[in-house]
Amino acid sequence: MSAEPQALWNTVLERLKARITEEGFNTWFKPTRLIEVRDGTLLVEVPNPFFVEWIEEYYGKLLADALSEVNSGSTRVAFQACKVEPGAARPKFIRRRIVYAHNESRLQERYAFTGFVVGEHNRFAHAAALAVAEAPSEVYNPLFIYGGVGLGKTHLVQAIGNYLLRTRPKLAVAYIPAETLFIELIDAVEKGTRMEFKNRYRSKDVLLIDDIHFLRGKESLQEEVFHLFNHLYEGGKQVVLTSDRPPREIPTLEERLASRFSGGLVVDIQPPVLETRIAILRRKAELEAQRLPQDVAYYIASRVRSNVRELEGALVRLLALSSLTGRGLTTGLAEEVLHDILRNRPRTTPNRIVKQVSRTFNATVEDIKGRRRTAPLALARQTSMFLIRKLLGISLKEIGRFFGGKDHTTVIHAIDKIKKLTEEDLEFKERIMGIEQRINRG
Ligand code: ADP
Ligand code: MG
Repeated sequence: MSAEPQALWNTVLERLKARITEEGFNTWFKPTRLIEVRDGTLLVEVPNPFFVEWIEEYYGKLLADALSEVNSGSTRVAFQACKVEPGAARPKFIRRRIVYAHNESRLQERYAFTGFVVGEHNRFAHAAALAVAEAPSEVYNPLFIYGGVGLGKTHLVQAIGNYLLRTRPKLAVAYIPAETLFIELIDAVEKGTRMEFKNRYRSKDVLLIDDIHFLRGKESLQEEVFHLFNHLYEGGKQVVLTSDRPPREIPTLEERLASRFSGGLVVDIQPPVLETRIAILRRKAELEAQRLPQDVAYYIASRVRSNVRELEGALVRLLALSSLTGRGLTTGLAEEVLHDILRNRPRTTPNRIVKQVSRTFNATVEDIKGRRRTAPLALARQTSMFLIRKLLGISLKEIGRFFGGKDHTTVIHAIDKIKKLTEEDLEFKERIMGIEQRINRG
């Protein structure tokens, strides 16, 4: 191996070192070793498969940035880990590619419909995404998916792209985060290559724009996106957008854009309930060829509630720790792993939820937990029950007990009622979402 690739890898490492914590660097990058270069790909060995996962999840973007800085994006990196299957005669190599500097479509293979767990929280969004993947430009155009951080928006839109790459390879499909669009726009303005920039995305058949809420306060970008959108839409091309909120709630988003974005189908993704969080954990473990015992899945899922990304992070750490130390997948080990993750975060409790509800509904916590039955109090009480069930996933019986010994049928009735209200009354739904966001922020 010539000195050049080694020097290149060393430079990448230096860049990383300057940008991440010393501990992070020592744990995840110091043990890496460049072993060969083939077809413009640096093959780097790491101690075990979880390094690959971990680096991809937490350092993937930094690594990609570092690489494109030091070599104009023509070199890729692949990680290789040695996995020893119990009973297998020889070690099996697991390889993953993680840098996509020059991947035109910007799609990452790992985001597929197959790995996506469907629950009540995302059923509609998933169905809509699948419909668009099967018949682009024919069903919902644009498709607008919104929801909180780490709930699977990027996964879903990329799954549409990957599905299309496979089923209709002739279509020009591109994924782009709104932020990248912005960077490219500024770059184009500086370099005087605005026409090139315009044409790059106008020629697509399917354009997936992620995190469109980034447009807020950026007039020039909004202007570009408006024309790009019209061009694609009028040409019968499919557009899919994601955002952390519905179009009309993105502050300073021009009305003409909000109206375009709302013109197709707008769907949301909510945080998953406990049962779904467990299912997601078990599916992710399965994909790693690991069996996660039900009690361990329950232990993690009942503590990591706000988003799937954190859920995944907890699992990756658990599997890593287990593989590094040879300890089994037990709740004890899970406790150690979660300790770090949860240490700095206030724990959501039924009381905290009632407190947030009380603020919005202008009532006291005592009143909500008490017996008085005026209409506004009843609504606040029912909302609290709904949110406690949704966010904490605790049993109906327990919820009944928390509200002074109410019957579980009363709790079911309350939850159904609020659910129905949120479906029928957009304003009410937004009120509930606001409360949820405050709860999640702690
Ligand atoms: P967002 O874009 O909404 O912030 P992501 O799509 O990046 O969220 O999701 C965060 C992580 O959680 C990703 O690794 C994704 O694969 C995973 N994830 C989210 N929802 C699901 C799901 N329903 N099933 C499986 N994995 C999921
Ligand atoms: Mg995202």
